[in-house]
Amino acid sequence: MKSNFTSSIIISFLLLSFGITYSQDFNAVMTSVEYKFNEDKIPCLTAAQRDAIKVETNNNIEQLRLENKLAFPEANWRGGHPLFIWPLQQAAGFNYNNTWAISGYVDHNSAYPNQLTDYNCGTRTYDASSGYNHQGVDMYLWPFIWNQMDNSQTEIIAAAPGQIIAKHDGEFDRSCNFNNNLWNAVYIQHNDGSVAWYGHMKNGSVTTKNVGDMVALGEVIGTVGSSGNSTGPHLHFEIYTNNSYTQLVDPFSGPCNVLNADSWWETQIPYNYSGINAVLTHSAVPDIFTTCPTPETSNTSDDFDTGDTIYFAAYLRDQVSGDNIHLSIIKPDNSYLYDWDITVTTTASSWYYYWYYSGVYDQEGEWKWEVTYGGETVSHSFNVGALSIEEANIETTSIYPNPSKNYLNIKTTKTLASAMIYDVSGKLIKTIRFNEAPTHNIDVSNISKGMYFLKVISNESEQETFKFIKQ
Ligand SMILES: [Zn+2]
Repeated sequence: MKSNFTSSIIISFLLLSFGITYSQDFNAVMTSVEYKFNEDKIPCLTAAQRDAIKVETNNNIEQLRLENKLAFPEANWRGGHPLFIWPLQQAAGFNYNNTWAISGYVDHNSAYPNQLTDYNCGTRTYDASSGYNHQGVDMYLWPFIWNQMDNSQTEIIAAAPGQIIAKHDGEFDRSCNFNNNLWNAVYIQHNDGSVAWYGHMKNGSVTTKNVGDMVALGEVIGTVGSSGNSTGPHLHFEIYTNNSYTQLVDPFSGPCNVLNADSWWETQIPYNYSGINAVLTHSAVPDIFTTCPTPETSNTSDDFDTGDTIYFAAYLRDQVSGDNIHLSIIKPDNSYLYDWDITVTTTASSWYYYWYYSGVYDQEGEWKWEVTYGGETVSHSFNVGALSIEEANIETTSIYPNPSKNYLNIKTTKTLASAMIYDVSGKLIKTIRFNEAPTHNIDVSNISKGMYFLKVISNESEQETFKFIKQ
């Protein structure tokens, strides 16, 4: 009697397990939302502002010429235009897969309003009833746009080397609409005479170099902000063949580019640059849609207990209807909790999805949330269980950079005795004694990539544990 009872319990348990695994309706627990940037089609500059920039850059060029400091006078222009690298990069210490998406290309249709033709003969551009046709490429931050701006997560870099012919800083940088404010910007002339405008920078981020100074290829010249006429943090990148400003350039080559035949990119990205911007885990619903310009509450977390509800989010760019997205939640023993696919139903420049589950985390250790889209796979590690972060005991201590490649630095006002590095299974990897080597830089170059815990112990036996990622 007793053994029958036990068997039936086991059988129902097995049925129940199969039920959870195979009848999981992923769409039922999925939230899927588009993020639309600049829906109001706000021109990045007024006509008067654009004219004023042309006057200012040319006044500066004449002044530099008088001082014999003009790097590229007309007689020295060489024929070939520069080949640009992408003007945005993620700052060190952040780990999104990508931080931006494109909201608008140059408009090649001179009619208006709503007469739109981008270089690829599509309509990923805008114009205005005032007669303005978009003259640049708009690249907006995605996801968590205000957090990214506040953290200076996306840097604006010189797409080609050249000379600074004007710059402007000090303007309000949390614009949400058309306000006639000036933007913070840097203007660079290249050795063929061409000029690049980098606009909407964050207040105080503009390079400290002066007009007349040279910038190298890839040099950081600011960070992305929302100064000037703007609905959120983005870069407006506008190009002219020279400072007479008679010939605008669309850096993208394509069948409907009526301005220039060839691409100005070293490597031109596809029209739909489909891919993954971030794969994150959250302790609650991520708050993406704040009232402009309120920073988002991301609720990002990588440390959970077995009983927690975990939100699994994927932030994509340029998703195209019909595309497949592959998703997996992988346990510490590499078996799958869930492994499924969804099909994109709407083409959009930015979109996010999240799913949430509770009561299913049956192993402690390092889990993975993995997304494959646009030919790339991004794997996000998170911890479930015993080794989660303890309460801060040495409150004045912090570690950086995190993620870390070669050295992990400890910043503290305490006198430290030792530190230990553990892997996510709790295995001791390395012990550092600070009285023997009184440095606060820990060499992590020899440990393999992954998630680790650093326990720091002070001379007064205070302890604190940090999680860090070795890259
Ligand atoms: Zn723009």
